[in-house]
Amino acid sequence: MSINQEIKPITAKRDGNLYIGGCDLTEIAKKYGTPLYVIDEQSLREICKEYKKTFEDYKNIHMTYASKALCSSAITKILFDEGFGFDVVSEGETYTVYKAGVDMSKVTFNGNNKSKSEIELALKCGVGRFSVDNFYEAKVLNDIAGKMGKEANILLRITPGIECHTHEYIKTGQIDSKFGFDLSQIDEIIDLIKSKYKNLSIKGLHSHIGSQIFELKSYCDEIDILVKELVSLNNRHCLSMNELNIGGGLGVKYTDNDNPPSVQEFGETIKNSVKSVCEKYNINPPIIYIEPGRSIISTAGVTLYTIGSTKQVPNGRKYITIDGGMADNPRPSMYNAIYSAEIANNTDNRNNEVVTIAGRYCESGDILIENIELPAPQSGDTLCVYCTGAYNYSMSSNYNRVQKPAMALVNNSQSDIIVNRESLEDLIRLDVIPDRLRR
Ligand SMILES: *Cc1c(COP(=O)(O)O)cnc(C)c1O
Repeated sequence: MSINQEIKPITAKRDGNLYIGGCDLTEIAKKYGTPLYVIDEQSLREICKEYKKTFEDYKNIHMTYASKALCSSAITKILFDEGFGFDVVSEGETYTVYKAGVDMSKVTFNGNNKSKSEIELALKCGVGRFSVDNFYEAKVLNDIAGKMGKEANILLRITPGIECHTHEYIKTGQIDSKFGFDLSQIDEIIDLIKSKYKNLSIKGLHSHIGSQIFELKSYCDEIDILVKELVSLNNRHCLSMNELNIGGGLGVKYTDNDNPPSVQEFGETIKNSVKSVCEKYNINPPIIYIEPGRSIISTAGVTLYTIGSTKQVPNGRKYITIDGGMADNPRPSMYNAIYSAEIANNTDNRNNEVVTIAGRYCESGDILIENIELPAPQSGDTLCVYCTGAYNYSMSSNYNRVQKPAMALVNNSQSDIIVNRESLEDLIRLDVIPDRLRR
């Protein structure tokens, strides 16, 4: 079993109350307030070790964590400590990893519309690779690198034309995608770079086929296409590209219905696939980059809420309202994501009932979990929602002008705040009242 195949962090235990990382979640909820994101350090470090172990016999592997899944200074430090590089997509993520002391040569800058200031910052901090997404960006990157007297090492992001079975909004590899060059456009961009863009150095190809992927076959198809392109482009253009970034996407288990492959199965598939395709084309195995995000951080994270009001609709369902919702976890309202949850305080001697967990935000669509069986939830209970490490905090907003939650790191019965809860002052900090309104 691999950690991404579990719903709960590996240290989750019941002893009356629910514990993670040796910490009583009900106590932590009291101590730091709710909603509260909690990250289990052990689960996080263990899955990093799983990735490392799986790929230890592939000499040229670069493991980069997709920061967009959850980016904070402490999380960055842990991942860097575990040997990971980073995939960043903004000035904010670049700055965060830079300030956390990361070796910036292990960072790849992705994105389909990088701004000038983002590119300047990335070049200034010495980001290792730029994944160039389109014609416009190649030109802009070359101009800026030229002005700064630098050379940008690039991968060309391509759209491999692979359909994988995941939600429409998190698919990225199909032909009609906003990301990357169509296969038919690569010759043109390479010609342009070779003839005009002297500040760009092409190292290889990049693609990312989607997220929450359960079918490993999609990766075989992707590797097949990437290696084939690498070989034919090298031949046609006299290049010596030897890097392939195959993106992220390995799925996680949100509910009992999800059955993602293990990290080991993922790793074996990638390695075998690369090996056999390289033998077919008679080339040395390239440098491989992987960019897992969700599978690294999702299972390590839970969110704690306090149950407030409840409402029994006559002859209808029972709503249980929590003190958070779509602003701290937009995934259910955005793409019908389904989560598992448990009441963290002691619920012995309660009967189960089916309830709907509603958020506190002013939208009917702010429903966190529909029809979940829980031991008769009561006002004041602490609700623990599982597998919220990825794309929760990172997608959170201040909708309804509510402060973003704090984040705590737990390990060996110790808990530490790694992101402070926003204050009311934080909320108005950037507001400006022009003088003419002050009269
Ligand atoms: C989002 C993204 C990832 C990470 O995807 P996960 O599904 O979280 O593993 C990796 N690479 C790129 C280019 C991405 O856009």
